Amino acid sequence: MTDAERRAALEEIAGEVRVCTRCRLHETRTKAVPGEGDPSTEVVFVGEGPGMNEDREGRPFVGRAGGLLVNLLGHIGWSREDVFITNIVKCRPPGNRDPEPDEIAACAPYLERQLATLDPSVVVTLGRHSMGRFMPGMRISQAHGTTRVADPATGARDATVFAMYHPAAALRTPGIERESYEDVALIPTVLTDARARRAEARRVSRAGGVAPIAASGSAETPDAEPVSADAAPQAEPLTADPIVPAAQPTSAAALPDTEPAADQLSLF
Ligand code: SF4
Repeated sequence: MTDAERRAALEEIAGEVRVCTRCRLHETRTKAVPGEGDPSTEVVFVGEGPGMNEDREGRPFVGRAGGLLVNLLGHIGWSREDVFITNIVKCRPPGNRDPEPDEIAACAPYLERQLATLDPSVVVTLGRHSMGRFMPGMRISQAHGTTRVADPATGARDATVFAMYHPAAALRTPGIERESYEDVALIPTVLTDARARRAEARRVSRAGGVAPIAASGSAETPDAEPVSADAAPQAEPLTADPIVPAAQPTSAAALPDTEPAADQLSLF
């Protein structure tokens, strides 16, 4: 698929999302939030659902949690324009409540189609509801900072899933914010490993063998794998065009040691 074809496919999905009435969340939304980003990226971030600011603007992660996500990306030398950002539900749950299982299920086909179109090497889940979609049965406190081979049924073929806390949780709790900076510093390593694994899987597949990356179902998906912070290399480009600068240092000394400013503290 060419970049133009990928962009057109994503816009077609977005058009359907903006007028969708598949679940009750359409009744209270201002604007649906399909997602946005580089259609050629190798990394997709999946949050939980739009908040008040996102609902107003129709764009994902534009509130204070979005500000922290931008800071986290900046920690490894990336920007939000380098990745694709979306949510498991595209319309705001009233009062920022958790999305209900039937709402997540109703919205799932949109995310699956987005992932099938983007075909990312890495899917980064933000928060427990997003993690639950890709790492069922895991607890966010255990899963954050770890990887798992994506179940192709999620739409992400030959991808690696990497779990992180939701930035809103990091804004509420300084300890989670610190862990989020540690986790995001691992993403360049995760991407490098994911590229190698999918290249091998596709080589084996072309040769007619069984691709080790392509789990045939969630029951066969391997357990989450810890990623060593010590192994984090410099960030590499996310697309064929080297638009992403090198990662910043990821040592503990480079992590912020102060709490966020008061104006950064909010759920969305
Ligand atoms: S949350 Fe998803 S399924 Fe529900 S109305 Fe919005 S776009 Fe449609």
